[in-house]
Amino acid sequence: MAKQKKYIVFGSPYIGREEIDEMVRTLKSGWIGTGPKAAKFEQAVCDYTGARYGLALNSCTAGLHLSLLVCGIKPGDEVITTPLTFCATVNTIIHVGATPVFADVDPGSMNIDPKKIEQAITKRTKAIVPVHLAGRPCEMDEIMRIAKKHNLFVIEDAAQALGSAYNGRKIGSIGDLTCFSFYVTKNVITGEGGMVTTANKEFADKIKIYALHGMSKDAWKRFSDDGYKHYQVIFPGYKYNMTDMQASIGIHQLKRIGQFDKKRQKIWNQYNAAFSGLPIGLPAPIDKNIYHNKHLYTLLIDKKRAGVSRDEFMRRLHERGIGTGVHYIPVHLHQYYRERFGYKPGDFPNAEYIGERTVSLPLSAKLSQSDVNRITRAVSEVIVD
Ligand SMILES: *Cc1c(COP(=O)(O)O)cnc(C)c1O
Repeated sequence: MAKQKKYIVFGSPYIGREEIDEMVRTLKSGWIGTGPKAAKFEQAVCDYTGARYGLALNSCTAGLHLSLLVCGIKPGDEVITTPLTFCATVNTIIHVGATPVFADVDPGSMNIDPKKIEQAITKRTKAIVPVHLAGRPCEMDEIMRIAKKHNLFVIEDAAQALGSAYNGRKIGSIGDLTCFSFYVTKNVITGEGGMVTTANKEFADKIKIYALHGMSKDAWKRFSDDGYKHYQVIFPGYKYNMTDMQASIGIHQLKRIGQFDKKRQKIWNQYNAAFSGLPIGLPAPIDKNIYHNKHLYTLLIDKKRAGVSRDEFMRRLHERGIGTGVHYIPVHLHQYYRERFGYKPGDFPNAEYIGERTVSLPLSAKLSQSDVNRITRAVSEVIVD
C-alpha cells in the first residue's frame, strides 16, 4: 500500500525544545496559574513592540472586550470596524451592548478604508476598531487623524499583526489599545492566549482588574509565599487571565519571531514567484512605509478567470493533502448580523468581492521546503487542470 502523504494542516505552529522545557519547569514549580511567567511574557511583548503596558489574557477576544469596556463603550454607542474580519472583532462590540457599524475595505490592502470610516461617523460613534488583516497594517496615520478629529478611541485588532510596523512604529504602540492573539494559527502562539498593549496606565490597571473577577490589584498573589491577602471586588469582572503555562510557550515563541518572520518571508517570495503567471490574484505589493509580518498569504480565485471556484479550489487542495483557510466570509453576511441589523449582500461590495474569492495557503515557520514545493505544485495543477 502506498504511504499516504502527510496532511499539511493550515496554520500548524512550530514549537521547539525551549518551549517544552519551560513548560515542564512551570509544571514542576507548582505555580501553573497566573504568576511570574505571565508577567515576564507581558514585559517581553512590551520590549518587543515598544508598548508601555502589556496585559496577558486568555485570548484576543477577551482583550477586545475589555478594551471596549475600559473605553466606556456602552449601549447606544456605535463602533466602526471592517466587515472583513473574524467574528470576534464584532461580537465583542455586541458584548458591551454597542452597535457595530461597518466601513468597507480597500480592495487592494483588504483593510478598512479610512474614507469609508469618515462617512460612517455619527454623533453616537465612540471608537474605531481597525483590523490589520493578514498582518498588513491599516493606514494608521489617517485613522489616528480621523479619531483625533472626532474624539474617538482607536482599539486595534492586531490578532494577526504581532511584529508588523507602520512608519517605523511597531503595531502595539500606536492606537489607544492594541489586542494581540496567540491562538494556534498565529505567528506567535501560546495555545490560547492574548495580550492588550496600551500607553494608558488607567486602562492597564483596569484591564488587569477586570480580567480577574474585578478583584483589587495583585489579588493573584493572594496565595503566594507572602501569606494570604484579602481582596476587595471593585467591579463584576471576568475570568480572562493568562496562565503561566501559556506564558511558558509564549516567552520562547517571542524569541523566535525574527527567525519565524524570515521563514515566512521566504515562503511568501516563493509563492509569489510560483504563482505570478497564473490567472489568480496575488497579495497586493507591500507599501514601503510598512512592515508586513506575513501572517497570511491570500489568493483571490475568480471562477471566470481561474476555471475553478474558490470552494472547488479548496476541495482539490484538500484532496492533495493541503489544508487552506478563508479570511473571511464578511461578518455582515452571517445569520445573526443579517437578522439583527438587516444587512444584505451588496452592502459592502469590496469585502464581499474578496469574501467570495479569498483563500489562504499554509504559511508557517513549520513548513519544510518539500511542503512548500508540494503546495506550489498543487496550486499550479488545480488552476491549470
Ligand atoms: C484570531 C483572531 C481573533 C481572535 O483571537 P483569539 O485569541 O482566538 O480570541 C480576533 N480577530 C482576528 C482578526 C483574528 O484573526
